[in-house]
Amino acid sequence: MSEQHKKVEKNPNLPSNIVMSGIRPTGMVHLGNYFGAIRNYVRMQDEFECYFMIADLHSLTTHPDTKTLKDNVRRVLAENIACGLDPEKATFYCQSHIYETGELYLYLNMLAYKGELEKTVTFKDKARQHPENVNAGLLTYPVLQTADIIMHRASHVPVGKDQEQHLEMARNFVVRFNHRYGEIFPEPHAFNYNEQLIKVPGLDGSGKMSKSENNMSTLYFADDDDTIRKKVMKAKTDSGPTEKNAVMPDYIENIFMLMKLVCSEDVIKKYETDFNECTIRYGDLKKQLAEDMISFMAPIRQKTDDILANDAYLVEVMKKGAQKANESAAKTMKLVREAMGLNYF
Ligand code: AMP
Repeated sequence: MSEQHKKVEKNPNLPSNIVMSGIRPTGMVHLGNYFGAIRNYVRMQDEFECYFMIADLHSLTTHPDTKTLKDNVRRVLAENIACGLDPEKATFYCQSHIYETGELYLYLNMLAYKGELEKTVTFKDKARQHPENVNAGLLTYPVLQTADIIMHRASHVPVGKDQEQHLEMARNFVVRFNHRYGEIFPEPHAFNYNEQLIKVPGLDGSGKMSKSENNMSTLYFADDDDTIRKKVMKAKTDSGPTEKNAVMPDYIENIFMLMKLVCSEDVIKKYETDFNECTIRYGDLKKQLAEDMISFMAPIRQKTDDILANDAYLVEVMKKGAQKANESAAKTMKLVREAMGLNYF
C-alpha cells in the first residue's frame, strides 16, 4: 500500500479535510508542475478546504537575487489561474505574506535534527550542484515546508513524486511536535487521489521536467507553438520495438504518459496497438502529440497573457489570499502558543 493510501487521520478531533501545497516562483510553470500538482489543485478546490501558495521564500534558498521575483511571482500566479486554479474557491497566496510562518519554522527547527536534514536527497543534490551556496535555508528547507503545510493544519498535500521524502520528514516533525506539546496537527500525506505520485520525466528521457534544468526537455506553458513542436519532435525515441507486445522503454512510456494527458483515447489506442504490432512510426506519433499538446497548452498561454495584462486583478488576488491565509495562520498559532506554554498572560 503506498503511503498516500494510509489513513491520514488518527485523532477524530483534528481537521481532516484541509489541503495545502506550494509552487516556487523560480521559473516558468511546466507540464510537470501541471501533471504532478496543479491538475489536482483544480480538482481538489471543489472538494476540500484548499490553501495554495507561491513559495517565494523557498525560492531564496537557490535564487537569492530578488530582482526578478516580482515578475516571477505574478507569472506563476497567472499561470496557475490560467490552468484552472480559482482564487474564489481556494485560498491562493504568497508565502512571504504570512509572517507567522517564520515563528512556526523556528519552533519546528528545535525538533529537526542536523543529521536527518543532511541526508535529504534534495539537499544533497542542490549542495552538489551549487557548492558555493550551501546555506542553512537549503538545509532546513523541509522544516520551512512543514511550517507552510501545518500552518493550516493540512492533512492532504497534492505534490509530485519528488516531494515524497519531504512529506515523510514533515510527518516526523509533526509526530515529534504532537508528542511533546499535545495533538495539534494532523499528519500530512502526499496526495494524488488513489494514484501513485507522478514524476514527469524530461523529453530527453532522463531526469524530470523542471523550471531550472534543461530547457529543451521541458514543456513550459509559455512556449510558443513552434517551440512546442520542436521540443516534442526532439523527444527521445528509438527505431521501434522488434518483438510484438514488448515492454516499453521508460522514455517511450513517458511519451505515452504525455499523450494520455492531451490526446484522445482513439489516438492513444491506435499508437499502443501499433507499438504492440511493431508497426509504430514515432515521427507520426510525435507530430500528433505536438499538435494535441499545442491545442492543450496554447489556450493556457493565451489566458496567462490576458491575466498578466490585468495587474490590478493579480494584486487583488494576492491581497485577498493573504487575508484568508493570515486568518487561518492566526488560529493555528494561537493553538501552538497555548500548547507550548508560550502564553504568559
Ligand atoms: P516546484 O516547481 O519544484 O516548485 O514544484 C511545484 C510542484 O510541482 C510540486 O508539487 C512538485 O512535486 C511538482 N513537480 C515539479 N516538477 C515535476 C515533475 N517533473 N513531475 C511531477 N511533478 C512535478
